Amino acid sequence: MDIKYEGLSELVIPISYGSSEVIETGKWGFEKPEAAFMTAPCQEVCPAGNPISQFLYLASEGRYEEALKALLKENPFPGVCGRVCFHPCEKDCNRIQYDEAVSINAMERNVFDVTSKHTPDMPLLSNADSKGVAVVGAGPAGLSAAYFLRLMGYRVTLFEAKKELGGVMRWGIPEYRLPKSILRKEIKRILGLSIDVKMGVRVGKEISFDELDRFDAVFLSPGAGLSLSLGIEGEDLKKVWRGGDFLDRINSGDRFRIGKEVLVIGGGNTAMDVARSALRLGSKVIVAYRRTRAEMPAIQDEIHEAELEGVQFEFLLQPVKISLLKNKKIRVKFQRMRIRGRDQSGRPKAIPLLGAYVIREADGLIKAVGEGADLSWIPETLCRNGLIHVNSFLTTPHAKFFAGGDAVDQPRTIVTAIGAGKKAAISIDLYLRGSADDDVFSKIRVGNKGALSMEAYLSGRNEGNWSDPKEVISYPQLNTLYFEHSPRVEMRKLGKDKALKDFSEVNLGYTSGEARVSALRCFSCGTCNYCYNCYFFCPEGVVSLDPQHGVRTVDLEHCKGCGTCAKVCPRNIVLMKEAG
Ligand SMILES: Cc1cc2nc3c(=O)[nH]c(=O)nc-3n(C[C@H](O)[C@H](O)[C@H](O)COP(=O)(O)OP(=O)(O)OC[C@H]3O[C@@H](n4cnc5c(N)ncnc54)[C@H](O)[C@@H]3O)c2cc1C
Ligand code: SF4
Ligand code: SF4
Repeated sequence: MDIKYEGLSELVIPISYGSSEVIETGKWGFEKPEAAFMTAPCQEVCPAGNPISQFLYLASEGRYEEALKALLKENPFPGVCGRVCFHPCEKDCNRIQYDEAVSINAMERNVFDVTSKHTPDMPLLSNADSKGVAVVGAGPAGLSAAYFLRLMGYRVTLFEAKKELGGVMRWGIPEYRLPKSILRKEIKRILGLSIDVKMGVRVGKEISFDELDRFDAVFLSPGAGLSLSLGIEGEDLKKVWRGGDFLDRINSGDRFRIGKEVLVIGGGNTAMDVARSALRLGSKVIVAYRRTRAEMPAIQDEIHEAELEGVQFEFLLQPVKISLLKNKKIRVKFQRMRIRGRDQSGRPKAIPLLGAYVIREADGLIKAVGEGADLSWIPETLCRNGLIHVNSFLTTPHAKFFAGGDAVDQPRTIVTAIGAGKKAAISIDLYLRGSADDDVFSKIRVGNKGALSMEAYLSGRNEGNWSDPKEVISYPQLNTLYFEHSPRVEMRKLGKDKALKDFSEVNLGYTSGEARVSALRCFSCGTCNYCYNCYFFCPEGVVSLDPQHGVRTVDLEHCKGCGTCAKVCPRNIVLMKEAG
């Protein structure tokens, strides 16, 4: 028989709040739930240690300004990284094992784009005796170090040889991938922290290296701006460009013709940027590379985009001689190569196919076979094998000198340079505060692949006491029963014809709808995203959630330790521990 209560249409279960609250049913249980957050694998591989699950969750809730602030705690360049980072994070996204990776890179850009008029208040720590730090070179490494040092309250003087800041982000990467307006906004935000900038000052020329001695510490981040030579006859001929000079001119806003057909030599990022820029100047472009496509060091997306836009590739060709013909064409003699074995670094080795040569003619040639660091102004005792020598804390053999970015032995990417700037800022802070505790780095690590958390560092800096780092959560540790399959949202792009007309940005970003769908695809691995599963399934009603303030509490006086919350948590953050 149905029980009907007047005025109520549904079955009502009576609960006696009074007695439930008075009787401490929590004492009956043998186990208690404990929130144990873990590190998502995407975060572990982001060299800047971006708080990915956190910023995606905030974006999915429409809390964009908080999402930006979360990113800026770890990385001063979300707008740049959201456009040109090679996004290793996506390759390790747990969601790949379920359907497709979350679009982390596109979402990072989206957060920047939506909030680009907003400058979050980043509190500067007070640093009573505010020591002075010099930073040499204003690429991503130097600007990041300056940013984090300033957040820690140091007086920072930034020396930059060029007339604008940004390094390769300003003078290397073309506008169609990274609009200058985006870079300017990020740099303006950084300089807003009151950094003393000495632009057009090349250390070693306008001021001497010894003059840096007046600073309490120095971070060297001069990058690798020297175009390497081919070492063959004819490479200094007119019509033979160095990749760096060519891009420098393009990035100064110069638009010119280099000829109907252009040969590009190389297979790295510079070669791809040069080739795609030459297409936009109206040339037909052929890239010649000495190994095969599989060995090209350029970012995969870049190679793919270059192919789509019409760049042609010829593999296993190494130039041996360049000459200028009477008809003003450039003639290049190439040696045919083949892959045989591996070199010392483990890379497939290209060796000559004896007697096999190929001739190619073109109206212009651009060599883009790599970059070296100009360290002529740095004492030899700081250098080794053409790079600045540092230990794993980015300290050089001279106390008080630190270095990072392309001028040291590390992967040459923007996000790695940002990570180095952060690491150096922490090393410098420890040095200036007289701390020799190298163990700090293992406490503030994000996973096990080298990324560090500035937020974790600052949380323990005053007391010199850091909590243990979190473990990384793998796919099998997730409870995927609660997730639905959904495809990744690809970013809209300019059509090929429009893209090749000028240097307008090719990737167009997400609409607000696309962004929301993308953000919601994140599993929030190892962290609470307030899905309310534990709240709904808890038979005792003892779980409370406050998403606005990021608080999840369990009334342990009344939790009987049944473990339901641990079983239904899709992201495995609830562990049952023996009751004390
Ligand atoms: C063409 C090109 C495209 C690239 N595309 C990408 C990409 O899409 N994604 C990606 O992740 N990475 C990319 N990279 C790699 C990436 O740009 C670099 O790894 C990164 O910029 C290195 O940062 P950095 O701060 O060490 O040096 P840089 O960016 O080179 O900055 C060094 C700065 O130091 C200044 N400087 C040098 N010597 C002195 C001195 N003596 N005194 C004062 N200032 C000095 C220079 O003028 C420069 O501004 C690309 C590289 C190139 C060349
Ligand atoms: S900076 Fe790069 S690796 Fe890090 S989250 Fe962004 S796209 Fe991923
Ligand atoms: S699902 Fe989200 S938190 Fe998990 S690895 Fe992918 S992006 Fe990171």
